[in-house]
Amino acid sequence: MVEPFDAVDIIHTKRDRGVLTDRQIDWVIDAYTRGIVAEEQMSALAMAVFLNGMNRHEIARWTDAMIRSGERLDFGSLPRKTADKHSTGGVGDKITLPLAPLVAVFDVAVPQLSGRGLGHTGGTLDKLESIPGWQANMTNESIYEQLGTGCGAVICAAGTGLAPADKKLYALRDTTGTVECVPLIASSIMSKKIAEGTDALILDVKVGSGAFMKNIEMARELATTMVDLGTDAGVHTVALLTDMSVPLGLTVGNALEVRESVEVLAGGGPDDVVELTVALAREMLTAAGRPDADPEVALRDGRAMDVWREMIAAQGGDPDAELPTAAYTHEIVAESDGILEDLDALKVGVASWRLGAGRARKGDPISLGAGIEIHAKPGDSVTRGQKLLTLHTDEEARFERAFEALDGTLTIGSDAVAPISSVILERIAR
Ligand code: URA
Repeated sequence: MVEPFDAVDIIHTKRDRGVLTDRQIDWVIDAYTRGIVAEEQMSALAMAVFLNGMNRHEIARWTDAMIRSGERLDFGSLPRKTADKHSTGGVGDKITLPLAPLVAVFDVAVPQLSGRGLGHTGGTLDKLESIPGWQANMTNESIYEQLGTGCGAVICAAGTGLAPADKKLYALRDTTGTVECVPLIASSIMSKKIAEGTDALILDVKVGSGAFMKNIEMARELATTMVDLGTDAGVHTVALLTDMSVPLGLTVGNALEVRESVEVLAGGGPDDVVELTVALAREMLTAAGRPDADPEVALRDGRAMDVWREMIAAQGGDPDAELPTAAYTHEIVAESDGILEDLDALKVGVASWRLGAGRARKGDPISLGAGIEIHAKPGDSVTRGQKLLTLHTDEEARFERAFEALDGTLTIGSDAVAPISSVILERIAR
């Protein structure tokens, strides 16, 4: 087959700040998926896009080309509307766990096709795998069945068939310094979500040290780009910008986060986790035509817990089983009386990762019991000797590197510090 373009010409165009044509974009994504465009060429193109950007039309075409690289699911024949949530990733972000069953209480199906953690942010599948017996892999047939006639919520591994071009490109970006780029992140996330075929999509775009987007302007640009891509593709899409300067909730790490999620499903749990779970559930329910539904009541009266138990059992898990715990713990205590001034999300995420909760490379083993319990948040008064964090690990030698990661945070001062009043910073819809 004679290829209609040369990759190097496309790289030159973007390197010199030109605009790629539809045909160039279609070809380069397709040829990369087929292995015709070499990894080093795609890497150069990704860096040119990183440095020089893409306009809205190029981003939409790039997204579409990645969707066309694989299969599309179609939930149109289900008896229920579908609503999904995507988070751009943060520290202690366990929201998917209580959220999916909570929304399904109201007869809205939730197809939550998820991934594993890489680096300092945790992965939903890794968290759920701390429940004995729970299986992440499902066939398309069993996903349809669980959504249509089963409990209505599925959290499982995204199959390899959805947007394979993105799978390849994301792995390449991860090793070439081209992840934190609005056009590439937006097209990567939205190609998978549009291919998944959900009716409604709520995006949780994190802002702060523990997120990809460190400032609100970039987060707003990413959210607006993704809302436009989703809306233009016929998916009811809304984004919330939410704080990720401090870890979400009081636990970071796989089994520890499952335990906290179960507390939320039992009607308790930390205020920030409950606030965000309820806000995202309201958005999903409204987008799926159920603005009348009250998720707060379903957390209090046990209905969300009932769906959770059904969902876990349907995927082989035992909702009553003991969760794994780590072999060693270490408490970090306040060195003086005063007000806790900061608890940096990135530093806590990296510390948890070094304790064994995360992986440095794809496929690395993780420790299900490892992580961090948080006993005080910024703005809290603390007294000398009071517990601030409990570190959990299976290998004692890991504590030292976690202490290093926490260096420079957990400062105690004398001036009042306003606690974060709401994790929700902005809402973006078209
Ligand atoms: N998550 C994705 O799926 N893609 C990105 O590019 C970044 C985060």
